[in-house]
Amino acid sequence: MKNKKHTHCCWCGAALTPGVGTAFFVGEEDEMLGFGPMGATGWMAKCEEKEECRARVEEQNEKEKQRKAEEKKNKNLERSLFPEEIQYFGGFKEGGFCLSGIEYMTEEKGRNIYGGGEWYVDTGENIWKCINNGMDGDDWSQNNISTGGAGAIGYIYAKTQERMEFLKNHTINITEKRQREEEEANEEAKKLITKIGGVKWEVQTFKNLLMQ
Ligand SMILES: [Zn+2]
Repeated sequence: MKNKKHTHCCWCGAALTPGVGTAFFVGEEDEMLGFGPMGATGWMAKCEEKEECRARVEEQNEKEKQRKAEEKKNKNLERSLFPEEIQYFGGFKEGGFCLSGIEYMTEEKGRNIYGGGEWYVDTGENIWKCINNGMDGDDWSQNNISTGGAGAIGYIYAKTQERMEFLKNHTINITEKRQREEEEANEEAKKLITKIGGVKWEVQTFKNLLMQ
């Protein structure tokens, strides 16, 4: 049956317009027959050009494979540049180290409010890797970094070009991001104040007109 809707191919995701593609129905009992993607039931649509559809699916699989390989490579690189080993442990200090500097973190492992996550601090002299260790059930006695929460475990590394390059290429500069966001918020506030100023002036002008 011809597809009659604006939809997407259930296999390759290509956009289908009314009149393009084939609509078909997979009932609960047909599920295992492989008419549609695993577990999908109900009305769906697919491309008419099977070869092109298959090529697109293959291309997507290949890209996903490359993405996963890249991710693994980065993880290994991170592990070799910043090993969480005892000889890099930053040591203990009364009240914990309060690190100040430029902060970096990845999107997937960033610091969270539950006492988890990881981040890096470039203090200018060294790079610290902080592993948040403030969750319920964590052993807080190992914490040497003051976080405002229960603390984190900090490892310290020499600031090498390789390590800085990793941070620049594979993490987000949180300090810079925060500054940018703050500036944007200030800009918005300024605009709002100018607008309010304009409204006040208009009200005053209107009052003056009434007084005349
Ligand atoms: Zn398709």
